[in-house]
Amino acid sequence: MFESSEPQTSVVRRTAMPPSHSRPVVTPLWPSVVYRTTDADELDRLYDGEFDGYTYAREGHPNAEVVATKIDQLEGLGPDAPAGLITGSGMAALSVALFGLLNAGDHVIADHQLYGGTRRLLDDATRLGIGVTLTDLGDSAAMADAVTPATRMVLAESVSNPTLRIPDIEAVAALAGEHDLTMVVDNTFTTPRMFRPFDHGAHVVVHSVTKLLAGHADVTLGYVAATDPQQAATMRTLSGTLGVTASPFDCWLAERGLHSFDLRYDRAEASAARLATELSAAGGVESVLYPGHHDHPDHDRAAKLFGSRGGTLVSFTLQGGRAAANAFAHAAPQIPFAPTLGDVATIVSHPASSSHRKLSPEQRLAIGITEGMLRVSVGIEEPDLVINEIVTAVAKAAASA
Ligand SMILES: *Cc1c(COP(=O)(O)O)cnc(C)c1O
Repeated sequence: MFESSEPQTSVVRRTAMPPSHSRPVVTPLWPSVVYRTTDADELDRLYDGEFDGYTYAREGHPNAEVVATKIDQLEGLGPDAPAGLITGSGMAALSVALFGLLNAGDHVIADHQLYGGTRRLLDDATRLGIGVTLTDLGDSAAMADAVTPATRMVLAESVSNPTLRIPDIEAVAALAGEHDLTMVVDNTFTTPRMFRPFDHGAHVVVHSVTKLLAGHADVTLGYVAATDPQQAATMRTLSGTLGVTASPFDCWLAERGLHSFDLRYDRAEASAARLATELSAAGGVESVLYPGHHDHPDHDRAAKLFGSRGGTLVSFTLQGGRAAANAFAHAAPQIPFAPTLGDVATIVSHPASSSHRKLSPEQRLAIGITEGMLRVSVGIEEPDLVINEIVTAVAKAAASA
Protein backbone atom coordinates (compact mmCIF):
# COMPACT_ATOMS: atom_id res chain seq x y z
CA MET A 1 0.00 0.00 0.00
CA PHE A 2 2.61 2.59 1.06
CA GLU A 3 5.88 0.91 0.19
CA SER A 4 7.22 -0.80 -2.86
CA SER A 5 5.74 -4.26 -3.22
CA GLU A 6 9.04 -5.44 -4.68
CA PRO A 7 10.61 -8.03 -2.36
CA GLN A 8 13.03 -6.19 -0.04
CA THR A 9 16.62 -7.38 0.09
CA SER A 10 17.27 -6.06 3.59
CA VAL A 11 15.30 -6.44 6.80
CA VAL A 12 16.30 -2.86 7.60
CA ARG A 13 13.96 -1.57 4.89
CA ARG A 14 10.21 -1.22 5.36
CA THR A 15 7.98 -4.10 4.40
CA ALA A 16 4.88 -3.42 2.34
CA MET A 17 1.56 -3.32 4.20
CA PRO A 18 -0.25 -6.65 3.86
CA PRO A 19 -2.97 -6.44 1.20
CA SER A 20 -6.47 -5.91 2.60
CA HIS A 21 -9.84 -5.15 1.03
CA SER A 22 -11.23 -4.23 4.41
CA ARG A 23 -10.28 -1.06 6.22
CA PRO A 24 -9.69 -0.44 9.91
CA VAL A 25 -12.60 1.06 11.83
CA VAL A 26 -10.29 2.94 14.19
CA THR A 27 -7.97 5.66 12.87
CA PRO A 28 -4.47 4.16 12.53
CA LEU A 29 -1.58 5.77 14.36
CA TRP A 30 0.86 7.34 11.88
CA PRO A 31 4.17 8.06 13.60
CA SER A 32 6.03 8.46 10.29
CA VAL A 33 8.23 11.55 10.14
CA VAL A 34 8.31 11.57 6.35
CA TYR A 35 6.08 10.67 3.45
CA ARG A 36 7.62 9.41 0.24
CA THR A 37 6.63 10.42 -3.26
CA THR A 38 7.45 8.68 -6.52
CA ASP A 39 9.50 11.57 -7.89
CA ALA A 40 10.25 15.30 -7.70
CA ASP A 41 7.30 16.25 -9.89
CA GLU A 42 4.89 14.56 -7.52
CA LEU A 43 6.52 16.33 -4.57
CA ASP A 44 6.08 19.65 -6.37
CA ARG A 45 2.40 18.96 -6.87
CA LEU A 46 2.02 18.06 -3.19
CA TYR A 47 3.70 21.27 -2.07
CA ASP A 48 1.68 23.28 -4.57
CA GLY A 49 -1.53 21.84 -3.12
CA GLU A 50 -2.53 20.14 -6.34
CA PHE A 51 -2.33 16.75 -4.60
CA ASP A 52 -3.53 16.00 -1.09
CA GLY A 53 -0.98 14.48 1.21
CA TYR A 54 1.84 14.96 3.63
CA THR A 55 5.54 15.55 3.28
CA TYR A 56 7.22 16.04 6.64
CA ALA A 57 5.39 15.46 9.93
CA ARG A 58 6.45 18.78 11.46
CA GLU A 59 4.36 20.43 8.77
CA GLY A 60 1.34 18.22 9.37
CA HIS A 61 0.28 14.61 9.69
CA PRO A 62 -2.96 12.60 9.46
CA ASN A 63 -3.53 12.13 13.19
CA ALA A 64 -3.40 15.89 13.79
CA GLU A 65 -5.71 16.52 10.85
CA VAL A 66 -8.31 14.07 12.12
CA VAL A 67 -8.42 15.82 15.52
CA ALA A 68 -8.53 19.27 13.91
CA THR A 69 -11.46 18.22 11.75
CA LYS A 70 -13.38 17.02 14.78
CA ILE A 71 -12.85 20.28 16.69
CA ASP A 72 -13.64 22.33 13.55
CA GLN A 73 -16.97 20.51 13.47
CA LEU A 74 -17.63 21.20 17.17
CA GLU A 75 -16.79 24.89 16.68
CA GLY A 76 -19.21 25.09 13.77
CA LEU A 77 -16.62 25.62 11.02
CA GLY A 78 -18.11 24.41 7.77
CA PRO A 79 -16.27 22.51 5.02
CA ASP A 80 -15.51 25.79 3.21
CA ALA A 81 -13.81 27.39 6.22
CA PRO A 82 -10.03 27.07 6.59
CA ALA A 83 -9.13 23.97 8.58
CA GLY A 84 -8.05 24.33 12.20
CA LEU A 85 -4.53 23.52 13.29
CA ILE A 86 -3.39 21.16 16.06
CA THR A 87 -0.29 22.21 18.00
CA GLY A 88 1.83 20.57 20.69
CA SER A 89 0.08 22.49 23.51
CA GLY A 90 -2.49 25.18 24.17
CA MET A 91 0.38 27.62 24.78
CA ALA A 92 1.78 26.71 21.35
CA ALA A 93 -1.59 27.54 19.80
CA LEU A 94 -1.64 30.91 21.54
CA SER A 95 1.98 31.58 20.52
CA VAL A 96 1.18 30.87 16.89
CA ALA A 97 -1.82 33.23 17.02
CA LEU A 98 0.06 36.02 18.76
CA PHE A 99 3.35 35.86 16.89
CA GLY A 100 1.82 34.84 13.57
CA LEU A 101 -0.79 37.58 13.43
CA LEU A 102 1.08 40.47 15.08
CA ASN A 103 4.27 42.34 14.18
CA ALA A 104 6.65 44.38 16.31
CA GLY A 105 5.01 47.76 16.87
CA ASP A 106 1.48 46.31 16.92
CA HIS A 107 -0.64 46.47 20.05
CA VAL A 108 -2.94 43.88 21.64
CA ILE A 109 -5.67 44.41 24.23
CA ALA A 110 -6.18 41.42 26.51
CA ASP A 111 -8.42 40.66 29.43
CA HIS A 112 -6.88 41.36 32.84
CA GLN A 113 -8.00 37.94 34.08
CA LEU A 114 -6.07 35.50 31.94
CA TYR A 115 -4.56 32.06 32.30
CA GLY A 116 -1.14 32.54 33.97
CA GLY A 117 0.76 31.08 31.00
CA THR A 118 -1.00 33.47 28.63
CA ARG A 119 -0.02 36.40 30.85
CA ARG A 120 3.61 35.28 30.68
CA LEU A 121 3.37 34.88 26.91
CA LEU A 122 2.17 38.48 26.69
CA ASP A 123 5.29 39.51 28.65
CA ASP A 124 7.33 37.84 25.91
CA ALA A 125 5.29 39.69 23.31
CA THR A 126 6.20 42.95 25.06
CA ARG A 127 9.88 41.94 25.08
CA LEU A 128 9.66 41.44 21.30
CA GLY A 129 8.14 44.86 20.67
CA ILE A 130 4.41 44.12 20.72
CA GLY A 131 2.46 46.52 22.92
CA VAL A 132 0.13 44.90 25.47
CA THR A 133 -2.66 46.43 27.53
CA LEU A 134 -4.47 44.29 30.09
CA THR A 135 -7.93 45.58 30.86
CA ASP A 136 -11.33 44.44 32.05
CA LEU A 137 -13.10 43.06 28.98
CA GLY A 138 -16.31 43.11 30.99
CA ASP A 139 -16.15 46.92 30.93
CA SER A 140 -16.80 48.42 27.48
CA ALA A 141 -15.59 51.90 28.48
CA ALA A 142 -12.28 50.49 29.77
CA MET A 143 -11.67 48.49 26.61
CA ALA A 144 -12.50 51.44 24.35
CA ASP A 145 -9.97 53.51 26.33
CA ALA A 146 -7.29 50.89 25.70
CA VAL A 147 -7.45 51.21 21.90
CA THR A 148 -4.48 52.95 20.26
CA PRO A 149 -3.75 53.56 16.55
CA ALA A 150 -1.45 50.49 16.73
CA THR A 151 -4.09 48.11 18.17
CA ARG A 152 -4.56 45.05 15.95
CA MET A 153 -5.90 42.35 18.26
CA VAL A 154 -8.17 41.78 21.23
CA LEU A 155 -7.71 38.59 23.26
CA ALA A 156 -10.38 37.18 25.57
CA GLU A 157 -11.05 33.96 27.43
CA SER A 158 -14.67 32.83 27.21
CA VAL A 159 -14.68 32.31 30.99
CA SER A 160 -11.81 33.46 33.17
CA ASN A 161 -9.72 31.25 35.40
CA PRO A 162 -10.30 30.73 38.33
CA THR A 163 -12.85 33.45 39.05
CA LEU A 164 -15.15 32.28 36.25
CA ARG A 165 -15.90 35.86 35.17
CA ILE A 166 -17.38 36.36 31.71
CA PRO A 167 -16.19 39.06 29.33
CA ASP A 168 -18.70 41.21 27.48
CA ILE A 169 -18.26 39.26 24.26
CA GLU A 170 -20.76 41.42 22.37
CA ALA A 171 -18.87 44.59 23.30
CA VAL A 172 -15.54 42.93 22.42
CA ALA A 173 -16.91 41.97 18.99
CA ALA A 174 -18.26 45.49 18.46
CA LEU A 175 -14.90 47.00 19.38
CA ALA A 176 -13.13 44.57 17.03
CA GLY A 177 -15.53 45.52 14.24
CA GLU A 178 -15.16 49.24 14.82
CA HIS A 179 -11.33 49.23 14.87
CA ASP A 180 -10.71 46.32 12.49
CA LEU A 181 -9.09 44.16 15.21
CA THR A 182 -8.57 40.41 15.13
CA MET A 183 -10.77 39.02 17.89
CA VAL A 184 -9.16 35.97 19.50
CA VAL A 185 -11.09 33.84 21.98
CA ASP A 186 -9.54 31.14 24.15
CA ASN A 187 -12.50 28.77 24.48
CA THR A 188 -10.83 26.22 26.77
CA PHE A 189 -13.10 26.65 29.81
CA THR A 190 -16.41 26.64 27.97
CA THR A 191 -15.68 24.35 25.01
CA PRO A 192 -17.98 24.48 21.96
CA ARG A 193 -20.54 22.45 23.93
CA MET A 194 -21.30 25.59 25.91
CA PHE A 195 -20.15 28.42 23.67
CA ARG A 196 -19.10 28.83 20.03
CA PRO A 197 -17.05 32.04 19.69
CA PHE A 198 -17.25 32.11 15.86
CA ASP A 199 -21.02 32.63 16.22
CA HIS A 200 -20.29 35.72 18.36
CA GLY A 201 -17.84 37.56 16.14
CA ALA A 202 -14.53 35.83 16.94
CA HIS A 203 -12.00 35.62 14.08
CA VAL A 204 -9.68 33.18 15.84
CA VAL A 205 -10.51 30.44 18.36
CA VAL A 206 -7.90 28.76 20.56
CA HIS A 207 -8.12 25.69 22.79
CA SER A 208 -5.98 23.89 25.27
CA VAL A 209 -7.08 20.47 23.96
CA THR A 210 -5.17 19.14 26.98
CA LYS A 211 -8.17 19.97 29.13
CA LEU A 212 -11.82 19.06 28.51
CA LEU A 213 -11.63 18.14 24.83
CA ALA A 214 -9.05 15.35 25.18
CA GLY A 215 -10.38 14.93 28.68
CA HIS A 216 -8.17 12.27 30.27
CA ALA A 217 -5.19 14.28 31.56
CA ASP A 218 -2.81 12.22 29.44
CA VAL A 219 -2.05 14.44 26.42
CA THR A 220 -0.77 17.99 25.96
CA LEU A 221 -2.24 19.55 22.82
CA GLY A 222 -3.60 22.80 21.43
CA TYR A 223 -5.91 23.95 18.65
CA VAL A 224 -6.17 27.21 16.76
CA ALA A 225 -8.48 28.12 13.88
CA ALA A 226 -9.17 31.31 11.95
CA THR A 227 -12.01 32.22 9.63
CA ASP A 228 -9.70 34.24 7.39
CA PRO A 229 -7.77 31.93 4.99
CA GLN A 230 -4.71 34.21 5.02
CA GLN A 231 -4.53 34.23 8.82
CA ALA A 232 -5.06 30.46 8.93
CA ALA A 233 -2.25 29.91 6.41
CA THR A 234 0.12 32.25 8.28
CA MET A 235 -0.42 30.38 11.55
CA ARG A 236 0.01 26.99 9.88
CA THR A 237 3.32 28.04 8.33
CA LEU A 238 4.60 29.54 11.59
CA SER A 239 3.64 26.38 13.50
CA GLY A 240 5.72 24.29 11.08
CA THR A 241 8.62 26.73 11.27
CA LEU A 242 8.63 26.96 15.07
CA GLY A 243 8.17 23.20 15.22
CA VAL A 244 5.37 23.30 17.77
CA THR A 245 3.96 20.20 16.13
CA ALA A 246 1.78 17.73 18.00
CA SER A 247 2.85 14.14 18.54
CA PRO A 248 0.78 11.70 16.44
CA PHE A 249 0.21 9.53 19.51
CA ASP A 250 -1.13 12.49 21.52
CA CYS A 251 -3.46 13.26 18.61
CA TRP A 252 -4.56 9.65 18.47
CA LEU A 253 -5.39 9.72 22.19
CA ALA A 254 -7.19 13.06 21.82
CA GLU A 255 -9.32 11.67 19.01
CA ARG A 256 -10.26 8.79 21.24
CA GLY A 257 -11.10 11.20 24.04
CA LEU A 258 -13.25 13.34 21.75
CA HIS A 259 -15.55 10.43 20.98
CA SER A 260 -16.99 10.69 24.49
CA PHE A 261 -16.65 14.47 24.83
CA ASP A 262 -20.37 15.35 24.69
CA LEU A 263 -21.29 12.71 27.25
CA ARG A 264 -18.43 13.61 29.58
CA TYR A 265 -19.22 17.27 29.36
CA ASP A 266 -22.91 16.94 30.09
CA ARG A 267 -22.36 14.60 33.01
CA ALA A 268 -19.67 16.79 34.60
CA GLU A 269 -21.74 19.92 34.07
CA ALA A 270 -24.83 18.45 35.73
CA SER A 271 -22.71 17.47 38.75
CA ALA A 272 -21.03 20.88 38.83
CA ALA A 273 -24.38 22.67 38.96
CA ARG A 274 -25.50 20.46 41.85
CA LEU A 275 -22.18 20.89 43.65
CA ALA A 276 -22.46 24.69 43.38
CA THR A 277 -25.91 24.56 44.95
CA GLU A 278 -24.74 22.35 47.82
CA LEU A 279 -21.67 24.48 48.48
CA SER A 280 -23.78 27.65 48.64
CA ALA A 281 -25.66 26.10 51.56
CA ALA A 282 -22.55 24.70 53.32
CA GLY A 283 -21.11 26.16 56.52
CA GLY A 284 -17.58 27.60 56.35
CA VAL A 285 -17.99 28.66 52.71
CA GLU A 286 -17.58 32.38 52.13
CA SER A 287 -18.67 32.45 48.50
CA VAL A 288 -19.35 30.23 45.49
CA LEU A 289 -18.79 31.14 41.86
CA TYR A 290 -20.75 29.25 39.22
CA PRO A 291 -21.80 30.98 35.97
CA GLY A 292 -25.08 29.05 35.84
CA HIS A 293 -26.26 30.47 39.16
CA HIS A 294 -28.20 33.69 39.69
CA ASP A 295 -25.78 35.02 42.31
CA HIS A 296 -22.83 34.92 39.87
CA PRO A 297 -21.68 38.50 39.18
CA ASP A 298 -22.00 37.98 35.41
CA HIS A 299 -25.07 35.79 35.46
CA ASP A 300 -27.05 37.88 32.94
CA ARG A 301 -24.19 37.75 30.48
CA ALA A 302 -23.77 34.02 31.12
CA ALA A 303 -27.47 33.38 30.46
CA LYS A 304 -27.30 35.34 27.21
CA LEU A 305 -24.13 33.65 25.92
CA PHE A 306 -24.45 30.16 27.38
CA GLY A 307 -28.20 29.66 27.75
CA SER A 308 -28.90 27.17 30.51
CA ARG A 309 -25.32 25.89 30.59
CA GLY A 310 -23.04 26.69 33.50
CA GLY A 311 -19.92 24.65 32.75
CA THR A 312 -17.93 22.02 34.59
CA LEU A 313 -15.95 24.28 36.94
CA VAL A 314 -16.96 25.58 40.33
CA SER A 315 -14.81 27.96 42.36
CA PHE A 316 -15.45 28.61 46.03
CA THR A 317 -13.79 30.39 48.91
CA LEU A 318 -13.42 28.87 52.35
CA GLN A 319 -13.43 30.98 55.47
CA GLY A 320 -10.02 30.65 57.12
CA GLY A 321 -7.67 31.29 54.18
CA ARG A 322 -4.73 29.00 53.37
CA ALA A 323 -5.17 26.91 56.54
CA ALA A 324 -8.72 26.04 55.55
CA ALA A 325 -7.63 25.25 51.97
CA ASN A 326 -4.95 22.90 53.33
CA ALA A 327 -7.42 21.30 55.73
CA PHE A 328 -9.77 20.70 52.81
CA ALA A 329 -7.01 19.03 50.78
CA HIS A 330 -6.14 16.73 53.69
CA ALA A 331 -9.80 15.91 54.24
CA ALA A 332 -10.31 14.84 50.61
CA PRO A 333 -7.24 12.68 49.87
CA GLN A 334 -9.12 10.74 47.16
CA ILE A 335 -9.47 13.91 45.04
CA PRO A 336 -6.19 14.93 43.40
CA PHE A 337 -5.03 18.37 44.54
CA ALA A 338 -3.47 19.42 41.24
CA PRO A 339 -3.34 22.39 38.88
CA THR A 340 -5.27 21.21 35.84
CA LEU A 341 -8.86 20.80 34.71
CA GLY A 342 -10.98 18.71 32.42
CA ASP A 343 -9.89 15.23 33.48
CA VAL A 344 -12.47 12.44 33.73
CA ALA A 345 -11.85 12.48 37.48
CA THR A 346 -12.61 15.44 39.72
CA ILE A 347 -9.57 17.61 40.51
CA VAL A 348 -9.25 20.47 42.99
CA SER A 349 -6.72 23.26 42.56
CA HIS A 350 -5.59 26.16 44.69
CA PRO A 351 -5.00 29.07 42.28
CA ALA A 352 -3.04 31.24 44.77
CA SER A 353 -0.27 28.61 45.03
CA SER A 354 -0.43 27.32 41.43
CA SER A 355 -1.72 29.11 38.34
CA HIS A 356 -1.51 32.57 39.90
CA ARG A 357 1.51 32.13 42.18
CA LYS A 358 3.62 34.58 40.15
CA LEU A 359 1.24 37.44 40.98
CA SER A 360 1.69 39.48 44.14
CA PRO A 361 -0.98 39.05 46.83
CA GLU A 362 -2.28 42.52 45.89
CA GLN A 363 -2.50 41.60 42.19
CA ARG A 364 -4.34 38.40 43.14
CA LEU A 365 -6.73 40.24 45.40
CA ALA A 366 -7.48 42.76 42.65
CA ILE A 367 -8.95 39.92 40.55
CA GLY A 368 -10.59 38.15 43.48
CA ILE A 369 -8.15 35.32 44.21
CA THR A 370 -7.63 34.73 47.92
CA GLU A 371 -5.76 32.05 49.90
CA GLY A 372 -9.05 30.38 50.76
CA MET A 373 -10.15 30.01 47.14
CA LEU A 374 -10.39 26.55 45.60
CA ARG A 375 -11.34 25.62 42.06
CA VAL A 376 -13.07 22.31 41.37
CA SER A 377 -12.89 20.73 37.94
CA VAL A 378 -15.81 18.37 38.27
CA GLY A 379 -15.33 14.93 36.73
CA ILE A 380 -17.65 12.21 35.53
CA GLU A 381 -17.76 10.07 38.66
CA GLU A 382 -21.14 9.20 40.18
CA PRO A 383 -22.56 12.65 41.05
CA ASP A 384 -23.52 11.74 44.63
CA LEU A 385 -20.03 10.44 45.32
CA VAL A 386 -18.24 13.63 44.19
CA ILE A 387 -20.68 15.97 45.89
CA ASN A 388 -20.61 14.06 49.19
CA GLU A 389 -16.82 13.90 49.24
CA ILE A 390 -16.46 17.63 48.65
CA VAL A 391 -19.20 18.72 51.02
CA THR A 392 -17.81 16.40 53.73
CA ALA A 393 -14.28 17.77 53.25
CA VAL A 394 -15.62 21.34 53.45
CA ALA A 395 -17.36 20.50 56.74
CA LYS A 396 -14.13 18.97 58.12
CA ALA A 397 -12.14 22.04 57.04
CA ALA A 398 -14.70 24.33 58.70
CA ALA A 399 -14.62 22.26 61.91
CA SER A 400 -10.81 22.43 62.08
CA ALA A 401 -10.72 26.22 61.63
C1 LIG B 1 -4.31 25.21 30.23
C2 LIG B 1 -4.70 26.43 29.52
C3 LIG B 1 -3.91 26.96 28.50
C4 LIG B 1 -2.60 26.36 28.11
O1 LIG B 1 -2.77 25.09 27.56
P1 LIG B 1 -1.63 23.94 27.61
O2 LIG B 1 -2.23 22.84 26.82
O3 LIG B 1 -1.37 23.62 29.04
O4 LIG B 1 -0.42 24.54 26.96
C5 LIG B 1 -4.36 28.10 27.84
N1 LIG B 1 -5.52 28.69 28.18
C6 LIG B 1 -6.30 28.21 29.18
C7 LIG B 1 -7.57 28.91 29.50
C8 LIG B 1 -5.92 27.07 29.87
O5 LIG B 1 -6.69 26.59 30.86
